[in-house]
Amino acid sequence: MAGKVHVIDHPLVQHKLSLMRSKETSTSTFRSLLREISTLLAYEVSRDLPTTLIPIETPIAPMMAPVLDGKKIVLVSILRAGTGILDGMLDILPSARVGHIGLYREPKTLVAVEYYFKVPENMSVRDTIVVDPMLATGNSAVAAVDRLKKAGPRSIKFVCLLTCPEGIRVFHEQHPDVPIYTASVDERLNEKSYIVPGLGDAGDRLFGTK
Ligand code: URA
Repeated sequence: MAGKVHVIDHPLVQHKLSLMRSKETSTSTFRSLLREISTLLAYEVSRDLPTTLIPIETPIAPMMAPVLDGKKIVLVSILRAGTGILDGMLDILPSARVGHIGLYREPKTLVAVEYYFKVPENMSVRDTIVVDPMLATGNSAVAAVDRLKKAGPRSIKFVCLLTCPEGIRVFHEQHPDVPIYTASVDERLNEKSYIVPGLGDAGDRLFGTK
């Protein structure tokens, strides 16, 4: 089964992404743009959420009106840069639950080691959206989704700002059932595992740590 990749090529998304890519963009502008673009990504990734009809009364007449069906969605942030996507997504999914996954790569073995994992209860009835701005080598995304699958959510989608062919291949080799939503599939990875042309280190640009 080939995994699905949805490229969100809406002009507003592309415009904001170009501003984020520029090395002239300040930390505070980068942060605001990430919040805005994340709202637009949330809009696209939530397009197929199921709805159910409930009876309400408008000031004019009673009607059966559509509302989101089922348990609250869970946004799962891969620490640390995933946090930058949460605020924008929560702006339009305000009652979503939030989970966190913290992983680091053991320098000698390069194995991903979990240092933090917290998600809500009742995962078997919940749809999840995993967020990380950059799907680069794909290794941490694979490890995060491996771990999340152990919690048994009803469904998983993966949202990033940027990815590249290598990251998609590695991710979908392990998780072909998890669709990727992204604003761009860039050219390639460089020898330091940065996406080219990319936007640099998303965490550093978001938190001003460089
Ligand atoms: N992580 C980043 O923050 N940037 C990249 O280009 C690749 C991985």
